[in-house]
Amino acid sequence: MRERLQELKTEALDKIKSSSNLKELNDLRVSYLGKKGPITEVLRGMGKLSAEERPKIGALANTIRESISEVIAEKRNDLEKAAIQKKLEAETIDVTLPGRPVQTGSRHPLTKIIEEIEDLFIGMGYQVAEGPEVEKDYYNFEALNLPKGHPARDMQDSFYITEELLMRTQTSPVQARTMEKHEGKGPIKIVCPGKVYRRDNDDATHSHQFTQIEGLVVDENITMADLKGTLDVFAKKMFGADREIRLRPSFFPFTEPSVEMDISCKICAGSGCRICKQTGWIEILGAGMVHPNVLQMSGFDPEKYTGFAFGMGPERIAMLKYGIDDIRHFYTNDIRFLQQFAVQE
Ligand SMILES: [Zn+2]
Repeated sequence: MRERLQELKTEALDKIKSSSNLKELNDLRVSYLGKKGPITEVLRGMGKLSAEERPKIGALANTIRESISEVIAEKRNDLEKAAIQKKLEAETIDVTLPGRPVQTGSRHPLTKIIEEIEDLFIGMGYQVAEGPEVEKDYYNFEALNLPKGHPARDMQDSFYITEELLMRTQTSPVQARTMEKHEGKGPIKIVCPGKVYRRDNDDATHSHQFTQIEGLVVDENITMADLKGTLDVFAKKMFGADREIRLRPSFFPFTEPSVEMDISCKICAGSGCRICKQTGWIEILGAGMVHPNVLQMSGFDPEKYTGFAFGMGPERIAMLKYGIDDIRHFYTNDIRFLQQFAVQE
């Protein structure tokens, strides 16, 4: 019986040592140490032994069980370590591989133009003012000398939300709101950039949504000469020191008199080309002296205060400055279009 136990031990240890995975090892543990295993089987025959031999065999069987358990534990440890090592090797990162380039965005050309215009006017002492895109009819039209039923409202086909609310058609309501806040006291010097909305069929030069930037100055003794001087500085800084400006009479309900400003064409230097439609001049913005009705409606005394206002479309300026031929490029977000401006930064 002693020999049989020793044989079993040797056999078990050999199998354990050569086992190659945890599953196999566990099966060996169950088969050698379990209740149905060969060691238990041998011990069942202990009844035939003498009283003297019985405890000795029992002790030997226990020692053998213990050493088998120990060897199994060691082997399990080794196998687990090997598994971790294998996993680490499989997951090794090759630091010599070339990296993937990081995709960086760039500022939208319209944002760049608006910021450039803002900076230019901030440099002349203006503040930037903003207002809501969903606007009251009062601020969008009435406070700007466009009462209900005024024919000039048709010039700006609007998206109405209710009778009294609409998507603003211009950034001018920000001017009305700012004047109201000043409660009849000057001075005011602001530029108002933002999105505006009009019912328009989108094509190369029209869009249902576009941006505007307007300026407003209200103070005592503000004259048309101040307006012209301001626009001249703006045109030269924005489009080049050798640009000339010219003012043409125009009509806007909120200014009187009203003008449109052209700059001399940079491409042909005034001799006429396709860009300036052979005129030598390019239309840039509308402007004028604030209408006395507008001043009065916003709480300013038109006998004491005067002011000027101007407004322009950053899309048009960006199109001229960067040679963009279709307004839809600004919002269709074709990455190839946008990437061109990343290069220029
Ligand atoms: Zn030209």
